[in-house]
Amino acid sequence: MSNVKKWEDNDNWVEIDLDLCEASEECVNVCPAEVYIILEGKVNAENIVECIECGACQDTCPYNAILHHFAWR
Ligand code: SF4
Repeated sequence: MSNVKKWEDNDNWVEIDLDLCEASEECVNVCPAEVYIILEGKVNAENIVECIECGACQDTCPYNAILHHFAWR
């Protein structure tokens, strides 16, 4: 069973496969909008409403743990 968690702001949403996530913090560091934080050893996109849809997090994750759907990109 997959362990995917979703955060959303209308049509802008991000799904993170927490089984793949190693909390290496690449997304935390690359995101210009401070969407991500690490909580209990896993990434959390709790500030999704701040996302500017640049795509950097998805492109940067070395574990392909992030699937991002953009509202207007
Ligand atoms: S798309 Fe850009 S702004 Fe949005 S969460 Fe990813 S890195 Fe942050």
